Amino acid sequence: MSEIAEFLRARYQERREEAKFVHEIGCAEIRHAGLSDCDCGQPEAIVADLDAELAIIEEAERSEAAAGGQPDFDGGGANALLWVLLVLARPFAGHPDHKGEEWGP
Ligand SMILES: [Zn+2]
Repeated sequence: MSEIAEFLRARYQERREEAKFVHEIGCAEIRHAGLSDCDCGQPEAIVADLDAELAIIEEAERSEAAAGGQPDFDGGGANALLWVLLVLARPFAGHPDHKGEEWGP
């Protein structure tokens, strides 16, 4: 689980670093109204989503550690959280570090 957790952490860190720039080029208030600031709620909402996803990763790793370092493939909480991490990795399927079918749906 730690490999996919590290993969996701890296992708979320990249998105966090891009969030301000993506907002500035995409925000109608800044681009079209010529404002230097806005109250659209971005990029804070993106960062909040990333923080929630990072919290899921942390809980998955905590649960795995509590289960003795092995996902519970008989159907325990760690197994369910591993499934969640696999789902979270789906949007990054084209990334060169993604494990493809090993992490696939
Ligand atoms: Zn905005």
